[in-house]
Amino acid sequence: MKKPIFVIVGAGQAGATAAAELRQNGFEGRIVLIGDEPHAPYERPPLSKDVLLQPESTRCQLFADGFYDEQDIEIKLGTPVSAIDPDARTVVLSSGETLSFDKLLLATGAQVRRLPLLDQLGGDVYTLRTLDDARKLQSVLQPERRIVLVGGGVIGLELASSAVDLGAHVTVIEQAPMAMGRCSPRILTEFLCDVHRKRGVVLHLGTPLAQAVRENGEIVVTLQDGTRVVGDAVIYGIGVDPDTRLASAAGLNVDGGILIDEDCATSHPGIYAAGDAARQWDAANRQYHRRETWENAKNQAITAARAMMEVEPTKTDVPWFWTDQCGANIQFAGDMLAEEWIVRGQMDESRFMLFGLNAGELVGAITVNQGRDMRSARMLIAKRARFAPDVWQDPQNSLRSLVNVA
Ligand code: FAD
Ligand code: NDP
Repeated sequence: MKKPIFVIVGAGQAGATAAAELRQNGFEGRIVLIGDEPHAPYERPPLSKDVLLQPESTRCQLFADGFYDEQDIEIKLGTPVSAIDPDARTVVLSSGETLSFDKLLLATGAQVRRLPLLDQLGGDVYTLRTLDDARKLQSVLQPERRIVLVGGGVIGLELASSAVDLGAHVTVIEQAPMAMGRCSPRILTEFLCDVHRKRGVVLHLGTPLAQAVRENGEIVVTLQDGTRVVGDAVIYGIGVDPDTRLASAAGLNVDGGILIDEDCATSHPGIYAAGDAARQWDAANRQYHRRETWENAKNQAITAARAMMEVEPTKTDVPWFWTDQCGANIQFAGDMLAEEWIVRGQMDESRFMLFGLNAGELVGAITVNQGRDMRSARMLIAKRARFAPDVWQDPQNSLRSLVNVA
């Protein structure tokens, strides 16, 4: 009998994880993993951190050299897929080659949102998404250089932290009134801004850009309140858009991401999607979510691979992500839009937890330099635990013991 062919488009976190998961579950057919970047699949989290801070010792490849051969995964790098035909079950590569598939996974990730006002300046303007982008930044983030970071999201703040560690002078410009406001509550963003300011970062919040010009070899950015910021280089991170181009052109349902069900199946039978590109139906809350996190890409890849093989899905967990900045490891779980946040521990010692409550129920949690409590916090969120505020606040109440009584 002819062996089935599973094609995966996008050789990033989700694509490579799915390929590995297929083999781990005993899939014996052909797996073709196709990526447009020239590098073997790698993880992006180190790009804003260790790739800049310890370039010599940092490896970000997802799997060791030789893994793809050992697992009999055919990998085609530097080869964009230019079209898919869902009915004929084929993909067309930029090289002109056409490949047939029995099942297809779209793991095309996301693309950096562009800011033409800055792009028109030409040189000395950078963004960060890929390993090649990070390698370019290694020579930009040098001692005494004046770096203007536009966008105070996760990329902006992680880069601010790395740039200061490398001896640069940093200004962050954020149009929203809060930094990292898309993924973090006010109490934490205020804490983070304070930490960055103490390290010398100048933060302009709630101040959109008005103009950017090059004057005498310097970049001069003017804000809408008239403030002028002068720098040697500008790096911007103003968010990403899901890469839905192939899916849209093929007529799959797309709305702010490739729409997928809880098994990662798209609107077309036999075609699945996972990772930053996908927007997944959450039956419990009756809404779609698109999450741009390492863990989401990994989990959806596993779910998609298992669905492609028609094996039982694994259990889902409370959503989680982390950031490392200014020497702090910060982990987030659950809903960051909770109505009320309770502090446990000492914020001024950068070692504390935040519990997010909705009508008294635990819906979100954040650990700052206290990652060992995150597992229990996720279990408490899953249980929608409910305790009096003083119980949450008291560090004597171990979270593990609370899990047992919740
Ligand atoms: P990607 O990793 O982007 O992979 C998609 C791949 O598909 C890309 O290589 C893309 O070029 C390729 N592709 C697209 N179209 C085609 C095509 N037509 N043909 C072939 N290939 C194609 N998350 C956290 O939780 N914690 C962190 O600390 C963290 N740090 C981050 C730091 C940085 C600098 C960045 C950029 C992201 C970070 N993230 C972090 C987010 C996390 O890395 C992403 O959510 C994750 O990489 C998404 O995986 P993905 O496989 O969906 O997409
Ligand atoms: P984010 O969406 O986190 O943040 C972008 C920020 O830029 C928002 O606060 C946004 O404000 C602001 N912004 C938008 N337009 C402008 C503008 N014209 N001028 C100034 N500010 C502006 O995206 P990032 O670019 O920081 O990150 C990109 C991707 O990388 C995301 O997928 C993210 O998850 C991932 N990443 C994750 C990390 C982590 O999880 N630790 C670390 C690094 C990257 P507004 O909301 O008002 O639009």
